[in-house]
Amino acid sequence: MKIRSVKGTADILPGHQAAWRAVVDAAATALGRAGAGRIDTPIIEYAELFERSVGESSDIVVQKELYTFEDRGGRELALRPEFTAGVLRSFIEHGMFTLPTPVKLWTHGPLFRAENVQRGRYRQFHQINFEIVGLDTPLADAEAVQLMWATLSGSGLRGHGIKLGSVGDPEDRAAYNQYLRDELTPRAADLTPVSQERLRLNPMRLLDAKDRGDIEIIAELQRPLDRLGTAARDHFEQVRGYLEAWGVPYEVDPGIVRGLDYYRRTAFEAHYQGIGAQSALGGGGRYDGLLAQLGGHDLPGVGWALGIERIIDALEQEAANDAASQIAESPTPSSLFLVPLDDEAVADAAALAHTLRAHGKVEYAYQRRNAGKGLKDADRSGASHAALRGPDERRANTWQLKDLGSGDQREVGVQDLVDLLKAGSHGVMA
Ligand code: AMP
Repeated sequence: MKIRSVKGTADILPGHQAAWRAVVDAAATALGRAGAGRIDTPIIEYAELFERSVGESSDIVVQKELYTFEDRGGRELALRPEFTAGVLRSFIEHGMFTLPTPVKLWTHGPLFRAENVQRGRYRQFHQINFEIVGLDTPLADAEAVQLMWATLSGSGLRGHGIKLGSVGDPEDRAAYNQYLRDELTPRAADLTPVSQERLRLNPMRLLDAKDRGDIEIIAELQRPLDRLGTAARDHFEQVRGYLEAWGVPYEVDPGIVRGLDYYRRTAFEAHYQGIGAQSALGGGGRYDGLLAQLGGHDLPGVGWALGIERIIDALEQEAANDAASQIAESPTPSSLFLVPLDDEAVADAAALAHTLRAHGKVEYAYQRRNAGKGLKDADRSGASHAALRGPDERRANTWQLKDLGSGDQREVGVQDLVDLLKAGSHGVMA
């Protein structure tokens, strides 16, 4: 029997790696320039870390999305379902509170949730994550939003939008939750079981309901933004002011709530229409109090996570919508395929490939090929150019360089091949 991949996990094949790298590079650039340090934390943590941080009413706990297991030492462990808890655990463990504030950290990697698998919702998926620890000013929230925007733009995406809301201070949340309880408890029997559970544990989370019936029941009710206290409202208005001053486009969404319980005040999401029902590319918000809850100093924080699979889905949609013009215009660097036309040239090709790789992508045939077969190999490798060598070229210490696009051919020396790789596809043969 063939062993297949686990449902909801995916191989990232070579054809997808360039897009993948573009997204991670965009994050590294945007976040690195903002002073964020790269951190990597383990995939395995104590289950308690997540149980204590994400909250008992989060999807991760209510819908039993946490992958937990007991190891041979009887430890209760979990595969990380999100980054913030692990990053803050590391912050505390390594005494980062002694660093000058703010401390900005970013990371990316795989996460695991036992989800109902569908487009954009997998059991192993990947996020880019960014945290600013130690600042409670609205400036930090605005900078976090701006950097989320910049990371998406830097990936090459154009059609994304930001939704901004606020879940208020803890007392606002408590009052809002009481309001929802008062309104909805008499109608609880009409709600789905998941929504009933949310009503019991953290009614605000009902606003994330996906069920049509639930959505209708909630539609008429006030949103968290309608019921903010003065301090949270003032904070929210300041965040808006900064974003407007910086020209970061966003729309206010009064009903925005986040999947994890630890958020307060600012909550935001990035969206892209056209990638199916799961249109959220990422989300984030302020989480003052979480660090203390995990046993650290009581430092405030704000952060976000972007889903890499969904960004790539959006980029592919955008490229398809652009009718390939975008792709045709982007210059691809030259690459070479060396074709030895006799046995002696095999060693020449191998040696030259290893030298030329300092300048670009170079492959070669591992055995003697006739010109026709060699050019076919070159084509299949995706190279822009082939260079062939037989006895005549060896005597002259040259190669026959063929542009596989135009068919132009001429005899060149090694330095020409170096120049070709350095110059890009429109260099030497033009
Ligand atoms: P969250 O950590 O739930 O706030 O999610 C932040 C972002 O991560 C989402 O907007 C998605 O882009 C991505 N994401 C979350 N869960 C999944 C999943 N199961 N599969 C793929 N992407 C996900």
